[in-house]
Amino acid sequence: MDFAYDARTEELRQRLLAFMDDHVYPSETVADEQRARLASPWDTPAVVDELKAEARRRGLWNLFLPDAEYGAGLTNLQYAPLAEITGRSPQLAPTALNCAAPDTGNMEVLAQFGDERQKKQWLEPLLAGEIRSAFAMTEPEVASSDATNITTRIEREGDEYVITGRKWYISGAMNPDCRIFIVMGKTDPDGADIRRQQSMVLVPRDTPGVTVKRAMRVFGYGDHYHGGHAEVTFDGARVPVSGLIGEEGGGFAIAQARLGPGRIHHCMRLIGMAERAIELMCRRAVSRTAFGKALAQQGVVHNWIADARVTVEQLRLLVLKTAWLMDTVGNKGAHTEIQAIKIATPRAVVDIIDRAIQLHGAGGVSQDLPLAELYAGARTLMIADGPDEVHQRSLARRELKRYA
Ligand SMILES: Cc1cc2nc3c(=O)[nH]c(=O)nc-3n(C[C@H](O)[C@H](O)[C@H](O)COP(=O)(O)OP(=O)(O)OC[C@H]3O[C@@H](n4cnc5c(N)ncnc54)[C@H](O)[C@@H]3O)c2cc1C
Repeated sequence: MDFAYDARTEELRQRLLAFMDDHVYPSETVADEQRARLASPWDTPAVVDELKAEARRRGLWNLFLPDAEYGAGLTNLQYAPLAEITGRSPQLAPTALNCAAPDTGNMEVLAQFGDERQKKQWLEPLLAGEIRSAFAMTEPEVASSDATNITTRIEREGDEYVITGRKWYISGAMNPDCRIFIVMGKTDPDGADIRRQQSMVLVPRDTPGVTVKRAMRVFGYGDHYHGGHAEVTFDGARVPVSGLIGEEGGGFAIAQARLGPGRIHHCMRLIGMAERAIELMCRRAVSRTAFGKALAQQGVVHNWIADARVTVEQLRLLVLKTAWLMDTVGNKGAHTEIQAIKIATPRAVVDIIDRAIQLHGAGGVSQDLPLAELYAGARTLMIADGPDEVHQRSLARRELKRYA
């Protein structure tokens, strides 16, 4: 067993670390200042476009896509340590590298299941970072962690599909650059196989009947850098049948395929978020004095830092093992491990960020440090892309099967 990164990964890591130091971290406050002066808070600050151009120039572009025809052709194991680094600045770095959700998952779907025309029209501009996209599955009225509950209708009328339904928490949709939605709905709501009732269609944002209603908040945050999370309604929106991705009834399977890589990417970035929290915690501990002693001299602080370090090392090993399994036996073969990291990582990272907030006192919950926003982001990942309990249920059932 070799724990070292291979030469290509190490070379890209060094290039990415330099990009983070030279451009990303210094841009964090600049981006916030620029955003405050924008006509709409959902527009993109100019510095983000400058970061994208610079990342592309440095060959740090589309690293997430294992398909060498369209992306960097890295394995999951090679991409994992790079995604981790971008997680240290989750508002800017993933977007700068064109490696931000939900575009990554949508590009994977189009690369894997799209036809040539769909690839030309939507995948190419997404790969070039010219447009953004959203994935619309969750509905406020039904428990959407069970995708068979989805009620949105996709009805065929001649050469068109008519889409009717209400979605929410649709990430990225507030950004005016988000030009295309991948919508999951039911083409055959009465079909005998509840996993073949769903289909996915491409719905351009400017389709009549599509309304981006409002921005949902996350612990009060707008998540502007992610393009927000919108409530979107589809009132008889009509798209040509050529907008169908894959086949009718294939939506559930595509959703499953989409979520595997998405989950590991989130976990990789979460580890980077934890590393940033540990760094901030240590810097604060050595520089702040209370009751005549540096905080770094308090035993309780030693425990927090040691526990955080041990946890991060454990999580990273499990995430890397999962990445390796996805590369060697496929996403299906890595099912248990993908669920394990999706259960283990967000909650552990929430805990680490929580300690870092505590050590910073009021500053920890302020807008002057990234900790409060990191906390909110990590906490939501105990719900988004499948709540913990759903993964626990499925993992435990598989474990129990061996003894039944
Ligand atoms: C920040 C953020 C971004 C998101 N982005 C998107 C997006 O881009 N596109 C999109 O379509 N959706 C998105 N979502 C929605 C997300 O995927 C859903 O919230 C998630 O799948 C859960 O669905 P739900 O909210 O309907 O919760 P429900 O399905 O109603 O579940 C609620 C709770 O019930 C419990 N529960 C459910 N099933 C079980 C079980 N079997 N056993 C025990 N307990 C159970 C869990 O505790 C769960 O949290 C996003 C959510 C957030 C918070």
